[in-house]
Amino acid sequence: MIRFKTTRTALGLYGTLLVLPTLIFGWLYWRELLKAHEVEMASVPEDAEDGARKIWTSLKARMDDLIEAETNRPFTEYGEYVLPSLEPIGDEIRPQRSAMTERTLPAGILAYFRFDRSNPASPVDVFVGDDTFGRKGVAENFVPIIEEFRNKRDSVTVLTNIEPQRPPQAFPLAAVALSLGNGDLECIKKCSAYLIDESITVRVYDFRLQFYVDQDGFGRAVVSRRVRAEIGPLIDAPAEAGCLAPLMKGFDLQQGFLLDVNWLFKELPFTIAEHVLDAKESLVRRDGAGTIDKLESRFATFYPVEKLGFETFKSSDLRFGQLDVEIDTSEITARFDHQQRNLFAVGLMLVLTLATGMSLLYRSVSRELEQAHRTQNFVAAVTHELRTPVSTIRLHGEMLLDGWAVDEEKRQEYYRRIVRETGRLSTLVENVLEKSRLKESVTEPELSDLNEVVRRLEKDLASGDGSEDLSFDLAPRLPQVWLTPEGVRGVLLNLVENARKYAPVDRNASEPEPILVRTRWDGERALLEVLDRGPGVPAPEKGRIFDAFYRVGSEATRTTTGTGLGLHLVKLHADVAGARVSVHDREGGGSIFRLAYRASV
Ligand code: ADP
Repeated sequence: MIRFKTTRTALGLYGTLLVLPTLIFGWLYWRELLKAHEVEMASVPEDAEDGARKIWTSLKARMDDLIEAETNRPFTEYGEYVLPSLEPIGDEIRPQRSAMTERTLPAGILAYFRFDRSNPASPVDVFVGDDTFGRKGVAENFVPIIEEFRNKRDSVTVLTNIEPQRPPQAFPLAAVALSLGNGDLECIKKCSAYLIDESITVRVYDFRLQFYVDQDGFGRAVVSRRVRAEIGPLIDAPAEAGCLAPLMKGFDLQQGFLLDVNWLFKELPFTIAEHVLDAKESLVRRDGAGTIDKLESRFATFYPVEKLGFETFKSSDLRFGQLDVEIDTSEITARFDHQQRNLFAVGLMLVLTLATGMSLLYRSVSRELEQAHRTQNFVAAVTHELRTPVSTIRLHGEMLLDGWAVDEEKRQEYYRRIVRETGRLSTLVENVLEKSRLKESVTEPELSDLNEVVRRLEKDLASGDGSEDLSFDLAPRLPQVWLTPEGVRGVLLNLVENARKYAPVDRNASEPEPILVRTRWDGERALLEVLDRGPGVPAPEKGRIFDAFYRVGSEATRTTTGTGLGLHLVKLHADVAGARVSVHDREGGGSIFRLAYRASV
């Protein structure tokens, strides 16, 4: 009970001082790790939104720049010829080809166009820059697109009602006439007298961005503005001067440009993305419903048509060209997994270390307790072993002194008892002394005939009361072995005494089987054995009975007297000779105590 309690206290202390703090620290660290991971994961959608915002704001800035440049372009440039400057021109008209027919168009613009708003049947003018070879063909390709746009505009009245207003501006009449006169230079020159130094007030509206999906499913982005001059017959010009006709009755134009949808919604965002997104972010285009999202990613969606402020004729067109900023979270997850694995590995190592520490502590405490227990047993045994003979000697001595023993026979009996008890006492003292002597033994083993040594001991081994309880069986032709004669003597005296004590011969049996002392050769060593028919030694005790002061059972339950030194002395004697000692179960009951002596070779 004490032993259990002490061990429990030691383990409890170990647990409280080492295991518990380790567990708590491990748990706290694990929680920190988890929290940091959650925070990182939670910031991912925000990062994606941020990336998306960066892209569409850059896209919008690019569009704003483009529109600003086009806003600054005089409306008179929409035509084949222009005047080089919009200043009043003096007395000469020197037309130049317009930038719309002369130069390469700005990036993103497919074609410029112009049509008369007041007459839906009027032709559409398209300008495609200096792509001179086959220019006409190219321009014609755009005509149906612009016509479709015109029809759409006409069919949706709400759009036309909210045109932004701008203050009207004066333009040189010659420039306007040149632009609207459909390139009829001859006519212009003829009418120059009416044009020089005259100006016309024109209202140029802001550009509006419109987007629609055409009948073939193509996205069309058109930026256009209204240009209006509300004038009556301003100048006194000849009616046959057709090039001046628009100036006389006023005009209401729609002019602008067709944007390259591919460039605007598919190329430009990706070029921007390369600069504004970081490594783990990427821009993805969602074409149709077939796209499979990656499992390990989060994304932010945006619709460029909507973000750039395009008006649409149908609300569903706002969703054209969906773009997603996708963040690959697999790296974050992989890092977290790695940290987790490291933590578990360290945890496992700690658990193993602590468990080893615990078991070592347990063993060490148990050993200490066992030793203490044995010493306690020994003290109890020695006290008992001393007290019994001392009181017997004293009692019989006093009885002799007081003349209790009346006859000679009684006296002899008392003397014998006193001598026997004195013998017990001196054996006890001898044993304790022998133990310490053998511990620091200097006796060297010598090569001798084991049988011979045993034979010399036969008399000493005989029982004191003359009963023949011992038999010998010595193997012939035993090789010489390393031994010390007094060691063999000590061994046999102890083993035979133990056999008599724990396995006395049953004299009442029909054929009493004596204790057997035998020698044998097992092919390698010479064996000296003492065999009895006693209760045997229980298996768990076999390894411990040779320890000092070890006795089977407890002092309270034991019936035999002893100090637990006998077998320990046997082992010490064996050690001196380099022999091995062991105990075995005997067939048919009883035990075999065996010493295996080294042979000469
Ligand atoms: P002691 O005899 O003083 O108790 P020993 O060292 O001689 O001490 O013996 C140790 C224990 O081994 C004994 O307590 C006993 O239980 C057991 N033992 C010794 N010899 C025998 C035997 N021949 N048969 C059964 N048990 C034995």
